[in-house]
This record gives sequence, structure tokens and C-alpha cells, in this order.
Amino acid sequence: MNDYQHILLAVDFSEHSEYVAEKAKSLAYKYQSKLSIIHVLDNIPMPDTNYGTIISMYADSGYELLEVEKDKLKQLGRYLGVAVDQQRLVWGLPKQEIIAFANEQQTDLIVLGSHGRHGLALLLGSTVNAVLHHAICDVMAVRLPTL
Ligand code: AMP
Repeated sequence: MNDYQHILLAVDFSEHSEYVAEKAKSLAYKYQSKLSIIHVLDNIPMPDTNYGTIISMYADSGYELLEVEKDKLKQLGRYLGVAVDQQRLVWGLPKQEIIAFANEQQTDLIVLGSHGRHGLALLLGSTVNAVLHHAICDVMAVRLPTL
């Protein structure tokens, strides 16, 4: 098996996110790969911007909730040693934005949880199910305890 050179961690900041992040961290360490993170904002009020707009990690914002999400991503990025330009915060549909970022960055592995905030509507959660079907690289669904 080839070593992974660029791993993408998709994080929804739900209960088990840290566990998924630890998996991605240890894989990145094992393969000495570059690591990127994406968090998709799909549940907060839209500010005056286009759907799917990339949010600069440097930009100021008056939206408190957005600042909270930005901070969480920055903190996780610091913990994982991910450069700010490899941290993506974007509004949109998680499955679409995860695939788009993975393709753009040419990652060779996407790491996500087996379910997240959307629960267990399917045997696998809705986001991971869609990513598994549409990704052009490997996908690791980290098995999480059922709630
Ligand atoms: P779900 O299929 O939506 O239950 O979520 C499964 C996994 O997809 C989660 O454990 C995360 O790794 C990822 N994911 C879900 N929603 C998001 C999101 N908004 N941003 C980034 N990753 C997400």
C-alpha cells in the first residue's frame, strides 16, 4: 500500500470529533503526511454572503457564532499542527464541500466519523455515506460509539 501524502480531516465538532481527530493525527504521523482540516457551517444563520463562500481564517466577523466556530477550528489546527491555509471553514453542504476541498487539494485520504450531528439516519451517517460514494480518493470512516 502506498503511503498517504495528504490527509483531509472532516470535523463537525460533535461529541466524538476529538476521537476522529486523534485518528487523523496518528495516521498523519505514521505516514508523515500533510494534514488539512475542513469544517462546514451548515447550521448557523447565513450572513450576507453567497452560499458556499470560503471564509478567510484571517478575516474579522461580527457574527459571534462564526467566531466560535473559527476559534474551534484554529484551536484544533494548532493542536494538530495544521497550517492556517490548510484549515477550511466554509458555508454549504458538508458532503459537497468536503469532496470539493479534497479534490482541490488532491488529498489521498479523507478521514471522517461514522456518524456525527446528523445521527444514525442511515447505517452510516448521511455525510460519510455521500463522501464514500463520491470521493476519488480513499475514505476512512472512523467507527464511533452509537449514542
Ligand atoms: P454524518 O454522516 O453527517 O452523521 O457525519 C459523519 C461525519 O462526517 C462526521 O463525524 C464528520 O467527520 C463529518 N461531517 C459531518 N458534518 C460535517 C461538517 N459540517 N463539517 C465537516 N465534517 C462533517
